[in-house]
Amino acid sequence: MSRIAYVNGHYGPLSEASVHIEDRGYQFSDGIYEVVALRNGRLSNEEGHLDRLERSLKELRIAMPMHRRALQHVMRELVRKNKATNALVYIQVTRGVARRDHPFPKDAVPSIVLTCRTLPKPSPKALAEGVAVISQPDIRWGRRDIKSISLLPNILAKQAAREAGAYEAWLVETDGTVTEGSSTNAWILTKDGVLVTRPRSTSILPGITRGQVLKLAQEAQIRLEERPFTLEEAKEAKEAFMSSASALVLPITKIDGQPVGEGIPGPLAKRLRELYETYLAS
Ligand code: PMP
Repeated sequence: MSRIAYVNGHYGPLSEASVHIEDRGYQFSDGIYEVVALRNGRLSNEEGHLDRLERSLKELRIAMPMHRRALQHVMRELVRKNKATNALVYIQVTRGVARRDHPFPKDAVPSIVLTCRTLPKPSPKALAEGVAVISQPDIRWGRRDIKSISLLPNILAKQAAREAGAYEAWLVETDGTVTEGSSTNAWILTKDGVLVTRPRSTSILPGITRGQVLKLAQEAQIRLEERPFTLEEAKEAKEAFMSSASALVLPITKIDGQPVGEGIPGPLAKRLRELYETYLAS
């Protein structure tokens, strides 16, 4: 794969791509992003990701930097120029370049950057054995439904997970409920055999994978509840797993060092992963 980036209308080598130091994304994290997986040359859930991109921009009152169709063209052109088949396409839009001042600038033009990198996949070992998560306090802001580029709490939580030898951090509210992972949505299969994930609200990012897994679970008539669950409930669950565009459905076999269920990937997580893979291939 080559490394070609797109910056405000121009394609060029990633190593030379740059934005202005007074871009509000750089100065204030005043922007949003999306990550779309490309699998076997196809963009997965493209419309869902673009709907969420438009929604994030609308919530922050940043204009779409180009029509959706044009953006879709840029995504394809970038994939082509990078000779990519299995990749993550990263899209970032910020409020643009302006003298550093907190209020919205009057005449800034939104900046748009796209990059493409090899698709990171969970290792065969992670899939076969499941992965570990640790819990961390959720110290993020109140609008986690917006896919903001301001990711400091997520980064700190992921780093804490890495330092603890875990794959992901599950973020926990002061009331003891799990919101989501630092870059994934969180799911459990309760002791009573009910699949549970937190409902959409301002507390979580509405994962595109989450939405699709919910649909697949409904179609498969799996007992399902969208409600908050506590860390304690998760530790007593039969199964736990995470979902995201790059990890798809990934079994969790340890929470804070304690085995989940039998300590091996459960049948439901495996089944949902298979259903998801079939959906992606269809
Ligand atoms: N939650 C957070 C905080 C995330 O960053 C992500 C990854 N974008 C997700 C959930 C999963 O979302 P998706 O399925 O759209 O990748």
